[in-house]
Amino acid sequence: MSATAVTCQIVTLPTGQACGAPAAGRIVWPDRTRTAACADCALSMSLKAQAAGSDIVGVEPLDRDWPVGTKNNPSKFAGYDKAAVDEPMFTLLARDPLAPALVRMWAAQMWQQGEKIEKVTEARGIADAMEAWKKEHPSTRCYLDWAGKEPAGG
Ligand SMILES: [Zn+2]
Repeated sequence: MSATAVTCQIVTLPTGQACGAPAAGRIVWPDRTRTAACADCALSMSLKAQAAGSDIVGVEPLDRDWPVGTKNNPSKFAGYDKAAVDEPMFTLLARDPLAPALVRMWAAQMWQQGEKIEKVTEARGIADAMEAWKKEHPSTRCYLDWAGKEPAGG
């Protein structure tokens, strides 16, 4: 733990000042910015956001960096927020045994098509993180899980 205590930065009414209580975590807003918050403020902001119809992305611990490409730390290249309302999409989760290979195939193909290195590198990193996550969560099953076996050649 840091010697400097992180305090809640949520502005409270009617004072208009930051709450100042010891922060329990960081709120991750839909625009990916973060604000330190105590547990009470994190809950009230989450409820307010839900009532307004745009939920916050999540609350993350102060001492943890989330891998890129997760719910708490979406990639800046993630397509979800860019999608047209009628645009079909398909999400791959780390629990899907096909996901890392499919993401790497996408990265290789996009690299050949001239996609920028930053985006391709991040996709490969997400594929690596998917494999790491799957190892850390072996009991998380997918509808298609190779009957518990690793894919051939994997
Ligand atoms: Zn607070």
